[in-house]
Amino acid sequence: MRATFLVKQILGLNGVVVSEISLFETEIVVKLKLTRTKLGCPKCKYMTHFRYDTRTVNSRWRHLDMGVRQTWLFCQLRRLKCPSHGVITESVPFARPVQESGFTRDFEHLVAWATSKMDKTTVTKLTRIAWRTVGTICERVVAEELDSKRLENLFLVGVDEISYRKHHNYLTLVTNHDTGKIIYGAEGKSANSLNGFFNDLGPDRAAKITAVTMDMGPAFAKAFADHAPGARICLDPFHVVKLGTEALEEVRKDLWRQMRKLPTPEYARKFAGARWALLKNPGDLTERQGETLKRIKRTGGALWRAYEMKESLRAVFAGDLTNYEVSELLERWCSRASRSRISSFVRLSKTIRTHKEGIMAAIEIGVSNGRVEGLNTKIRSIIARCYGLHSAEATLALVMLSCGPIDLKLPYERAS
Ligand SMILES: [Zn+2]
Repeated sequence: MRATFLVKQILGLNGVVVSEISLFETEIVVKLKLTRTKLGCPKCKYMTHFRYDTRTVNSRWRHLDMGVRQTWLFCQLRRLKCPSHGVITESVPFARPVQESGFTRDFEHLVAWATSKMDKTTVTKLTRIAWRTVGTICERVVAEELDSKRLENLFLVGVDEISYRKHHNYLTLVTNHDTGKIIYGAEGKSANSLNGFFNDLGPDRAAKITAVTMDMGPAFAKAFADHAPGARICLDPFHVVKLGTEALEEVRKDLWRQMRKLPTPEYARKFAGARWALLKNPGDLTERQGETLKRIKRTGGALWRAYEMKESLRAVFAGDLTNYEVSELLERWCSRASRSRISSFVRLSKTIRTHKEGIMAAIEIGVSNGRVEGLNTKIRSIIARCYGLHSAEATLALVMLSCGPIDLKLPYERAS
């Protein structure tokens, strides 16, 4: 077997012949020629026999490593004139348009797959490319591979905002509750952030949406009232529980501020680790956090009562209760909170009473709160990993890689 043929087989390349292989200390350079005589537009299906001119464009792509060496493919490409895209360099079967990418599809899929599973340091070390480049590769893979039918048959959706980059920026994400996948994302958190969603969706498909879960802010409610008036607006229990956590946080911060003014700093130090002990679900506490919680319980007072109220609010939505029971418990919770003399919980009880109809609507349509919470935790861990990415689009691409309707395959899976 000839070495050039062997290398072509190993690299899994079709539609080309290998004309030359050079070995360097850290890389292998493989020169290719396209076997087809027709020229194809990289942006559409247009094919032609005619070259636009005699100029050729030297192009190179990083491909999957061979052993310890990086593999680089070289090819001289011709130019054609596409009726839709003008004068353009011809397409190759193994990569996206040359102007946009210096990597083969196999390489980009490997990077995207790795990014959906591993942290930043691991991905950049494994692939030997910069994190920013990882971001742009993920954007390309998501744009091409995201399930094109993701906006079909939407009945029950959720919309939520999530902060990134130290809480200065926001992404708006739309979830299909039936599949648990994120189907749309855009920068910002205003009603306008959903314009793109309704544009892509169109009025016919928007009319099919029967219910949407969201937080209590007015922005998303307005967008849905304008574009999908048939959708029943439901207030996500997940957000109600989150408000409970925020009310508790307020009590803890108040107490912390008071304690720091005391002449005995030991007392304040005792509560230094209290934050996570209070905020995490009881089942997820470490041993030390469990101890801290016990100490707070022994001390009693407003902080412990606030903790109990947050946990009992969570319990209202966590069990297999009937709608009637949830409604009753929520009512009882509100009257207890309103009498608690803890201002953040008195306020929350008012908020919940104002929005009770929407909250009960969410219970009736039966969106699993645990699932929403799980997805939210997953997104937050992905966002934490995105630190250093240059744009909202790249951050969004990483979210979609792990939570969107996308079937990422490794090169060997794609080859078979
Ligand atoms: Zn074209």
